[in-house]
Amino acid sequence: MNLKHLREEVLEANLEIVRRGLVLYTFGNASGFDRSDGLVVIKPSGVPYDELTPSHMVISDLNGKIVEGTLRPSSDLATHLALYRAFEGLGGIVHTHSRYATAWSQAQREIPCLGTTHADYIRGPIPVTAPMPAQDIESEYELNTGNAIIRRFKTLNPLETPAVLVAGHAPFVWGVTPAEAAHMAVVLEEIAHMAFVTFTINADAAALTDTLRDKHFLRKHGANAYYGQN
Ligand SMILES: [Zn+2]
Repeated sequence: MNLKHLREEVLEANLEIVRRGLVLYTFGNASGFDRSDGLVVIKPSGVPYDELTPSHMVISDLNGKIVEGTLRPSSDLATHLALYRAFEGLGGIVHTHSRYATAWSQAQREIPCLGTTHADYIRGPIPVTAPMPAQDIESEYELNTGNAIIRRFKTLNPLETPAVLVAGHAPFVWGVTPAEAAHMAVVLEEIAHMAFVTFTINADAAALTDTLRDKHFLRKHGANAYYGQN
């Protein structure tokens, strides 16, 4: 993949999360990672979405050294970089403060897998990070946000659980491409909304059985996936 294409893809992912109503003002960011040259493309900090062009995108190496771009990168860059360094196979990350997913993050409650819409994308509950200790907030906060996510995934496969709720903050989601990550952000918000409504109707609603959950997840993502046209 060339960087010109990745800049356009990252811009498009940033515009998609706005179009889908997940982002107010500049409360969100999308990035993309090209593993072949080790470079990350991310939205600049604080530029209104309707003024963004591919040339505004900031390019960083995996250690946060800016290699192209005159604008400051999104302040969450260090979180994105930590996740690209830790999780194999990620090519795009999206962070939003979308209403329902953020409400679950603030409530510090994981979202159980209540239905097949959820199981089509995520093989299990959507986890919540542990609250961050004061010293992790006082210095290198964005890096430590990434580290809190990485700790929560010690026993989880990030490709089977492409979403996380940061306690007291909001979700981060990812995918193989920036477009896939943006899609996941939209799906997560819908799942979070549906789970809220489900528990409103029945506070004792049960999670899917492992059998039904895996049927849905694996027919789309397993080694013998048969959903869709591929
Ligand atoms: Zn945030």
